[in-house]
Amino acid sequence: MAQPAVVAQLEAALGRDSVLSNPSELTVYEYDGSDEALAGSHRPDVVVLPQTAQQVQQVVKIARAMGMPVTARGGGTGLAGGAIAVQGGILVALTKMDRILEINTRDRYALVEPGLINLDLSQTTSRDGYFFAPDPSSQRACTIGGNVANNSGGPHCLKYGVTVNHILGLEVVLPDGELLWVGGPSPDVPGVDLTGILVGSEGTLGIVTKAMVRLTRSPEATDVLLAAFPSIEAASSAVSAIIAAGVLPTALEMMDALTITAVESAYHAGYPRDAAAVLLIEIDGLLEVVAENTRLISVICEQQEATEVRVASTQEERDLLWLGRKAALGAMGRLAPNYYLQDTVVPRTKLPVTLQRVEEISKDYKLPVANVFHAGDGNLHPLILFDRHKPGDIERVLHAGTEMIHWCIEVGGAVSGEHGIGLEKKDFLPLVFTTEDLAAMAGLKLSFDPLQLFNPEKVFPSGFSCGEVSALRQQALAARLGIDFV
Ligand SMILES: Cc1cc2nc3c(=O)[nH]c(=O)nc-3n(C[C@H](O)[C@H](O)[C@H](O)COP(=O)(O)OP(=O)(O)OC[C@H]3O[C@@H](n4cnc5c(N)ncnc54)[C@H](O)[C@@H]3O)c2cc1C
Repeated sequence: MAQPAVVAQLEAALGRDSVLSNPSELTVYEYDGSDEALAGSHRPDVVVLPQTAQQVQQVVKIARAMGMPVTARGGGTGLAGGAIAVQGGILVALTKMDRILEINTRDRYALVEPGLINLDLSQTTSRDGYFFAPDPSSQRACTIGGNVANNSGGPHCLKYGVTVNHILGLEVVLPDGELLWVGGPSPDVPGVDLTGILVGSEGTLGIVTKAMVRLTRSPEATDVLLAAFPSIEAASSAVSAIIAAGVLPTALEMMDALTITAVESAYHAGYPRDAAAVLLIEIDGLLEVVAENTRLISVICEQQEATEVRVASTQEERDLLWLGRKAALGAMGRLAPNYYLQDTVVPRTKLPVTLQRVEEISKDYKLPVANVFHAGDGNLHPLILFDRHKPGDIERVLHAGTEMIHWCIEVGGAVSGEHGIGLEKKDFLPLVFTTEDLAAMAGLKLSFDPLQLFNPEKVFPSGFSCGEVSALRQQALAARLGIDFV
């Protein structure tokens, strides 16, 4: 519960309508898209809904004076607990800052506010023949600020790259309340790449108040193919064969039999119910190139035992095939009351063996697992299905998820493919980073946020907070130099 004095200061700065402190209003801000049983829920002391960067600055200055934590929030669709205010404090919801401020097609950028919904941007710029390429499957609800903070991916990132490749500049409010502009429209900005540092920093270094995003020319032609396979192995081999043939589809997504069942029951997207796996493949570019690549990919799928290859012939058909994929998580309720989405990534060639391992883990823990994922870039999303009210289920899910992560790291992968670290993955970081690496990251955090008020307890593993960092750095340095640390 926020102190009345803090609420009064915030109301004076933002207006009464933009400050929520009533417990019933705060309840919806306790969670993000991750499962509450696993990520937990925390009620912020107060929620503010600023409308300008200057208001964000005022909020941060009040928080700093009161020593209150500050957590930024966009659409709340994050799957790693990133927007949960674990230490209470002030939650800054940026959803009212949702304007497109400028569209510059000559220099191919748009200047937008952070609360803009991802899909709204592409829908608006499509009138001029442009789009914003990063397209998380949550794009109807997630915001550009959240995409920047999590360096989000999406089906089309196989060809176009993840969010960081599409951010030219940022305006951010720093933890001391100052406003900073980094980057810009020119192709190269000299000096330290602060834009690169801020993208993916999950609200721990600054609050994004404007983003200058790259606009990509809409392709001349687009084909969407559905290929059905008798086994996961055959579908995985087709993924490798397509890439090995030198064709780069725009998107290359895989769904297994459980996912197909859920999606078909919910949306009737036209996926064959008897397939063990389907690939949804999109190819875009110049008309002739798309036609040629579609033909080539169809042949490759057939060579890899595809039982059906279908090219959508109308926009409605294309949209329906994509609806099944993009809304697949929403269909999981058809299979189980809860799911835990494990986000991880492996080198593409390790997909078949990793999917086998996921199946073994599913059997070992007696928990069904549905797979729906960005196969083209090796980014797996095993959905572990469970019932949080069943005794022991949560523990088994956590163990199963941990085994999957360990396996993926063993075969050369990483702890997260695209959903970020947040609360969920922070204690896995020592599996892939040395103490020295982590101390360097924590040192960067300290230089931005010495009071550690921005999104506390996120991203950095336990033991890498203020005070511990300089000791860790010295220990790491001593170890490198082979001397004793006193
Ligand atoms: C159904 C579904 C499908 C999804 N598919 C994908 C996918 O394909 N690819 C993918 O990468 N992710 C996916 N996600 C995860 C999620 O949608 C993305 O991470 C998304 O970018 C989060 O945006 P958001 O606006 O909801 O952010 P939130 O969940 O509100 O916040 C996420 C993080 O960003 C920080 N943050 C938010 N706004 C700001 C800001 N203005 N300044 C600084 N920090 C900020 C928060 O503090 C938090 O750490 C999916 C989620 C769901 C529920």
